[in-house]
Amino acid sequence: MTLSSGRGLLLGGVLLGVLLALLWLRNEPPAVRSAGAAPGGFSVHQALEVRGRLMEGMGPHRVGQPALRVLRDRLLGEFQKLGLSPQVQSTFVCSDYGTCATVENLLVRFPGRGPHAEGRQAVMLAVHYDSVGAGPGVSDDANGTAVALEVARHLKSEPARRNDIILLITDGEEYGLLGAHAFVRHPWANDVAAVVNVEARGSSGLSHMFETGPNNARLVGFYAKHTARPSTNSLAYAVYKRMPNDTDFTVFKAAQMTGLGIANIEGVVHYHTPYDDLEHSDPRTLQHHGDVALGLLRAMAEEDFSQPPPGDAAFVDFLGLFVLHWPVGWTPGIALLGLGLLLAGAYRWSREEPVTPRQLGWASLGWWGLLLLCAGVGFAYFKLLSASGAAPVSWIAHPGPALAALGLLWVSVFWLLCALIARRTTGTARWIAVWAWWGLLTVGLSFAFPDAISSLLIPVPLVGLAAVLVPRGVGRVAVVGLGTTVAGCLMFPLVFFLLSSLGLPSLPLVGLLSGLMLASLLPLSPARWPLGWRLPAGCAAAAAVLSLWALRLSPYSEQAPQRLNIVYRFDQDRQSSRWALEGDLSRVPGPLAEFQQGTREVTAPWDTKPSFLLPAESIGLTAPELEPLHVETVAAGRTLQLRLRSTRGAPFVSVAFSPAARLTSVRVNGQTVPAQKERIRNRYGQWRAVSCVTDAPQGCVVELSQEGSEPIEAFLYDESPGIPPGRFSRRAEWKDFVPSQNGDVTVASRSLKI
Ligand SMILES: [Zn+2]
Repeated sequence: MTLSSGRGLLLGGVLLGVLLALLWLRNEPPAVRSAGAAPGGFSVHQALEVRGRLMEGMGPHRVGQPALRVLRDRLLGEFQKLGLSPQVQSTFVCSDYGTCATVENLLVRFPGRGPHAEGRQAVMLAVHYDSVGAGPGVSDDANGTAVALEVARHLKSEPARRNDIILLITDGEEYGLLGAHAFVRHPWANDVAAVVNVEARGSSGLSHMFETGPNNARLVGFYAKHTARPSTNSLAYAVYKRMPNDTDFTVFKAAQMTGLGIANIEGVVHYHTPYDDLEHSDPRTLQHHGDVALGLLRAMAEEDFSQPPPGDAAFVDFLGLFVLHWPVGWTPGIALLGLGLLLAGAYRWSREEPVTPRQLGWASLGWWGLLLLCAGVGFAYFKLLSASGAAPVSWIAHPGPALAALGLLWVSVFWLLCALIARRTTGTARWIAVWAWWGLLTVGLSFAFPDAISSLLIPVPLVGLAAVLVPRGVGRVAVVGLGTTVAGCLMFPLVFFLLSSLGLPSLPLVGLLSGLMLASLLPLSPARWPLGWRLPAGCAAAAAVLSLWALRLSPYSEQAPQRLNIVYRFDQDRQSSRWALEGDLSRVPGPLAEFQQGTREVTAPWDTKPSFLLPAESIGLTAPELEPLHVETVAAGRTLQLRLRSTRGAPFVSVAFSPAARLTSVRVNGQTVPAQKERIRNRYGQWRAVSCVTDAPQGCVVELSQEGSEPIEAFLYDESPGIPPGRFSRRAEWKDFVPSQNGDVTVASRSLKI
C-alpha cells in the first residue's frame, strides 16, 4: 500500500471515526464501584447516604437564608457522628464582588505526626455548603461536602500523616467567595501549604483537574501518580483563566497557597437552577471527585512543603490512562527537538522520493486552507445557529444534528482541499508540509504559551521519531496512521472539553482542532477520488438536511430549560409595582405570554438589557433606606456614615453609587470593601455597588470617603427570595423554563441623593 493509493485514506478515515466513538464513550466518569469493592478507598455509597441526609427536603440555601443554618446544623451533626466537632468560624466579611455578609465556615483539623521543623504544615480540602437562590445545589456543592465527610471518616480511622489535614467547608461562595475571604484571615490559614478544591459547573461528567496555581509541578506530579482515572490538560487552566468564573481557590491562591481545583462540567444546563438536584446528579461524578480528592489529600499530607517548589508543569492526560507532564520550561526544547526529528524524517523521505518547492507550496496551501476553512466554517455555523434563533444560548437542548452537520461540512472541506492539491503534489510532499507546519506552529506557540499547547506538542516528537526510524513502503502509511492516532487521542478529548466548558461559541476552535486532525490524513489523498464529486455532494446534502432539522429544534427542553426569572418589583420612584421577566428573553414561553403585552424597560440605572414588565397589584412594600448617621466635611471632601437597611426585613440590601461620585474608600460595618473586580464594575456600568446580607433590623453601616462635596446619586434596592402568591403560582409546574442564579425574587428599590 502506498501513500496515495486511496485505501490508506479509507483506513485513516475509519480510524478517525473509531477514535471519535471510543473517546466519546470514554468521556464519562468511571462506573460506580460496588460497596466494599475498594477497601480503604472512597466509598460513594457512604457519600451518597450522607448527601441524602444533608439534602433531605432541602431547597435553595443561599448565604443569609434560614435553610443554610439548617444545613450547617446537619453538617455539624454528621461530623459529630464521626466523633469530630468542627470549629465554626463566624466572621463578617466583604469581598471584591462588593458583597458583605456574616459567614459561618466549618473547619476540622487532623493533627499530623510531624516532623514540624519550620512550624506546622497543613494541607486542606475546601468545599462550600451554600447554594445559589434558584436551586438546591446538590452537585454544586453538596457533592463537595459529601466528599469532605467521607474523607473525614477515612482520616479519623487512619494513622496521622506527616502534615496536618484541614477540612474547610465554606459559606457564601456563590455570593462572592465570602467564606474563602473569611478563612484566609483565620490563624490556620498561615499553616496551609496546599489546597484541593472540589467544585461543579454542571450535574455530571468527569472530575476534571482544571485549575492550578503557581509552582504546580509538585502537585501535578501527585495528581499524575495518585489518580486512577485522570482527566486534565494544562490548556484547560489557560481557558479557565479567561472565563468569568471563580472558585474559592481563586482567593486561596491570592493568599499564596498552592493547590489544585477539580470540577465536573457536564450537565451545565442544570447548573445554578432547580435541576441541580438529587435526581439529575450523576453518582459517578461524586465517586470520581471522591477518588481524586482522597488520593491527592493522602499524598499531599506526606509531602514536605518546606522544600523549595520545583516550578510549573505543562500536562495532559492520555486517554484517561496516565498523565504526561514535564517542566513547563522544557516545552520549547521538546518542540524544537520534535521539529528537528520531523525535518530529519522529511529529509529522509525526500531523498527517497524527491519533492519540489512547488509541490511543497501547494501542500502548505492545503494544510493552512484546511485549518482556516474548518475554523471559518465553524464560526459561520455558530453565527447561523445564533442568528436563526436555534441557539440563543451557549448550551442548547439538542446540539447533536448541528454538530453532525458541521462534521460533514468539515469532511467536505477536506475533500475540497484534497481535490485542489492532490494532483499537484505527492503524498510525501503533503506529509512533509503537514508535519513541518504542525512542528513550526508548535515551536512558535511554545515560547508564548508553553503550558497551553501540551496536546499540540506531543504528536510532534512522536511522529518525528517514527519518520526517522520506520522503513519505507508500508511504513510510510503507518507513520501517517500514527500521526492521526496520536492527534485524535489528544484532540478529541479537547474538543469534548471545549464544547462542555464554552458551549457553541467554541465551534471555531473546535473547527481548528478538527482541521488539524483531518490534515493528518492529507498525505493519504489519492490523486483521483474513486467517487469523485459524489462524496462531498453527499456530505453537503446530508449536512443541509441535518441543518434544517437543527434549525427546527427547540433550543430548550425539560432537561435543558430556558433560564427565566420572574421578579416582583416595587419601584418607589414611580410609585408602582410590576412583574418583571428577566434572564434569557429570546423566547417568551406560552404560560408567560402576557408579558409580551407589557413594556420593555431597564429596571436599574446601569441596566442595558431591558426586562419585560407587567403592571402588578401593590402588596404594600416599602423601599430600603439609606439614613445619614454622620456627615462631615473634611479638607479633601466629605466622609459619610450611613445606615443601609431594608424597611421590610429583606435579607439582601444593596446600594450603588453613581460613577460620577469620586469615592476613595467604602466600608461596611467597619470592614473595607475592596475595589471591585473589573468584571463586576462592568456589570454595574461602573456604578459602585455594595451589598449587605443581614437579618439585623438595624441593617448595615456604610462609611464613605468622598473627594469633593457634590451630592452623591445612589440607587438602593433590597431583595427577598420568592415572589408574592397569585399570578404565577403555577411556576413550579412549568418545566422547560426555570429560574436560575438568584431565582425568583421580590425587589424594592428607590433612588436618592446624599
Ligand atoms: Zn460551587
